[in-house]
Amino acid sequence: MKYLSCRYIEHGLDFEHTRLETCCFTCHSGGGHITLNSDYKGEMIDWDKLFTLKRKYREEHRKGNILPNCKGCVFLEEKDWDEEDYINFLQFNYWIQCNSKCTYCYEVQNKKIFDKIKPYNTVPIIKEMIEKNILRKGGEIAFGGGEPTIAPEFEDLIKLLTESSFRNMRIHSSGIKFSPAIEEAIKKGVLNVVISIDSGCEKTYKKIKTVNSFKKVVENMKKYAAANKNNYGLMTSKYIIIPNVNDNRKEIDLWIETVKSIGGRWLAVDIEDVWYKTNRATISPYYLDLVNYIIERANEYKMKVELYDRARGLKEGKNQI
Ligand code: SF4
Ligand code: SF4
Repeated sequence: MKYLSCRYIEHGLDFEHTRLETCCFTCHSGGGHITLNSDYKGEMIDWDKLFTLKRKYREEHRKGNILPNCKGCVFLEEKDWDEEDYINFLQFNYWIQCNSKCTYCYEVQNKKIFDKIKPYNTVPIIKEMIEKNILRKGGEIAFGGGEPTIAPEFEDLIKLLTESSFRNMRIHSSGIKFSPAIEEAIKKGVLNVVISIDSGCEKTYKKIKTVNSFKKVVENMKKYAAANKNNYGLMTSKYIIIPNVNDNRKEIDLWIETVKSIGGRWLAVDIEDVWYKTNRATISPYYLDLVNYIIERANEYKMKVELYDRARGLKEGKNQI
């Protein structure tokens, strides 16, 4: 049946630190956080209960009542949705620890709260999802943070998914630790590693990340880019525009030249989350110009650019509530 909904309400599951949600997107006017379990610590999942709740949400969209928390979301689309219960958009955001200390990071800013949360292991749950055909192909599997590559189960998890023939995986990594499982999956053409370097030189990198890892990250981006021989698996270098820190053409040029010099061909752009949410109604056209400038520079070098949801919201004029 054709109606306005989104792939995450229909078939999404997001592992958060202490909750299960449909997705991790929170930058639109509705604010996101559509909860499937508000007190989750890594236990096996009661699938009947979870899908009963998902069906309730989906039914609201089918009736034309967009959930209040989904309002304004860039992922809403009108299409013919199927009626089956399964997951094919899976997000992992449960891992807290990180080897970077980005100034804009919510987890760094709330370290005392996050230090008290005990990490859990999703491998047994993913095995069950594969065995029961709950996790299906055709969507996307995405990892956010903390830093996924330092989770003890990370290499096993990527190998499990790769060997089970899942494609279209996306890992958001600081790029500080090199992962052989990521490299292998890029070679197979099934994974895109997105490294948010946010800068084009050591000085700006240190100012944002507060660690001295610029050279290491560039070196790892180069290794991942070299694994992308067939142009299927990818290394994407991401730039989060941070007002008054890296919001200038000079830094953007340095970043694009760095990516070009290591053989990278894919870029992504976003805008700093807290600033965006606080200033969304009054964002100066200067920031849309910067996003457009990145697109122009990328076109010049025949690079591809992906706009993440805040940059996309700005481009599509959906930043205002
Ligand atoms: S509409 Fe947006 S907030 Fe709602 S489930 Fe979909 S992606 Fe998440
Ligand atoms: S890399 Fe990600 S998780 Fe780590 S500090 Fe930076 S924003 Fe936070």
